[in-house]
Amino acid sequence: MKYIFVTGGVVSSLGKGLTAASLGTLLEARSLRVVLQKFDPYLNVDPGTMNPFQHGEVYVLNDGAETDLDLGHYERFTNCVLTRHNNLTSGQVYETVILKERRGDYLGKTVQVIPHVTDVIKDRIRELSDANKYDVVITEIGGTTGDIEGLPFIEAIRQFILEVGPENVVNMHVTLVPYIKAAHELKTKPTQQSVAKLREIGLQPQVLICRSEKPLDRDVRRKLSMFCNVAEKAVIEERDVEHTIYEVPLTLHSEGLDQLVCDLLQLKTPAPDLRDWQKFVDCVISPSKRVKIAVVGKYMDVRDAYKSIYESLTHAAASEDCGIDLKLIDAESLADGVDNQLEDVAGVLIPGGFGVRGAEGKINATRYAREHGIPFLGLCLGMQVATIEFARNVCGIREANSTEFDKDTPDPVISLLEEQRGVRKKGASMRLGTWPTKIVPDTLAEKIYGGTEVTERHRHRYEFNMKYRDRMNAKGFVISGTSPDGTLAELIELRDHPYFVGCQYHPEFQSKPNKPHPLFKGFIAAALANQAGGKKRNVAVEAPTSVSDPELVLQR
Ligand code: GLN
Repeated sequence: MKYIFVTGGVVSSLGKGLTAASLGTLLEARSLRVVLQKFDPYLNVDPGTMNPFQHGEVYVLNDGAETDLDLGHYERFTNCVLTRHNNLTSGQVYETVILKERRGDYLGKTVQVIPHVTDVIKDRIRELSDANKYDVVITEIGGTTGDIEGLPFIEAIRQFILEVGPENVVNMHVTLVPYIKAAHELKTKPTQQSVAKLREIGLQPQVLICRSEKPLDRDVRRKLSMFCNVAEKAVIEERDVEHTIYEVPLTLHSEGLDQLVCDLLQLKTPAPDLRDWQKFVDCVISPSKRVKIAVVGKYMDVRDAYKSIYESLTHAAASEDCGIDLKLIDAESLADGVDNQLEDVAGVLIPGGFGVRGAEGKINATRYAREHGIPFLGLCLGMQVATIEFARNVCGIREANSTEFDKDTPDPVISLLEEQRGVRKKGASMRLGTWPTKIVPDTLAEKIYGGTEVTERHRHRYEFNMKYRDRMNAKGFVISGTSPDGTLAELIELRDHPYFVGCQYHPEFQSKPNKPHPLFKGFIAAALANQAGGKKRNVAVEAPTSVSDPELVLQR
């Protein structure tokens, strides 16, 4: 079994997760079986209780674990299917140690960071070390070298290397090599100091991944090599990608990273086959057409808050040879009506969310999409909002609402599950993880999925209230997917609309490059058709003007 540890230096947000995931892509392309895991030094037990401003999206796994969004990169970039064992936080480590202490498992000993905390960390690496399943374990350590919280993790890795032998381990340090304009120079000092910090604790990186805006010339590489005690060919340049994050594996490959890592680990592997990946990237970079999609949500300025959704749109668009111009709209700005904000879009997507803020704006956007025949995709809260909108404006149930927004509503079309009513604690207390959905035959959903049984990931408390089913169905609101026993609504659609789909689950957690999720693919195809019809009706489809984050457009 071989191990790769990925640490980060100088600053956070260097894209360590993406780098680790991209190395996973490359090793898989070399026929190795890879698994990734993430260690997060913060004290939260999981990121499920952090808000998206703090932490970006919460990525949900099959087993219901609420994890760091880097696990999303891991699953999208590789074939591994992760579980709660693949994300460890300091909160979990200390919870484990303290529970053991209370049980008396330490037999009267003083409980300490070394060895008790570091033992728990090492156990988590070993847990994944199943030679029947994997050849390589890639472990990413969150945070930045030098953080107090990160120390036990680094120390655990030091001990671990001693136990498994250095020939089985590669330490990869992702660092920043900043360009100082005034001096016209790339600066190596921050990296030198960050590596010095690592070596102080006893870790010597074998590979430096240098994030920089400019190419690293020979002198810079030499300097980094000498001061950081890393072979010159192991100083890898990772420049900011021009178009899409999916270029990262290709650029790392052209820098020789995968060959280098295999050499260091003494793994004999064939050259990687990256043709499919390259094809996907080509589609993302130069599509033959573009489509404008509105996302109406709450965290429009936080790029990471709806990460998996944006990625799923990219995957679906690429499969239709099309690029996406995102129009990000703050739901609160639509509270008094949508005015002309949705006039120029070919599709409307409402993401998941919590709480009443922005709800009325989302309802208004949904109404506009329904009345104007604009393709609509509502995810989780988005489906609940679509239900409320239809109940109010089509069925005349004026005060229809979710009990999440108004707990005393006379018409709770969305309400709590019986078993959720007594639950007070917030952490990991929702309906979480993968559940099967039975698709109703002869629905749009059946056509989109091409089958009648699917499994999808959930993260919610509230549900469609089946008491309203018949009344709404009579007006054209179809429950097109349910839990196998038929009690929970999982999918809805409208009879008289080209593409109006809402799902109680989160399809965005199961979309990959070259394997777009059917609901997203159907949505983009419908948006393209709508746009083509729109052109005939002389609705202008112009270049994006309203995207608050240029990278999202570039990401297409
Ligand atoms: N707040 C809603 C619920 O708890 C929707 C959750 C979500 O969109 N993930 O049911």
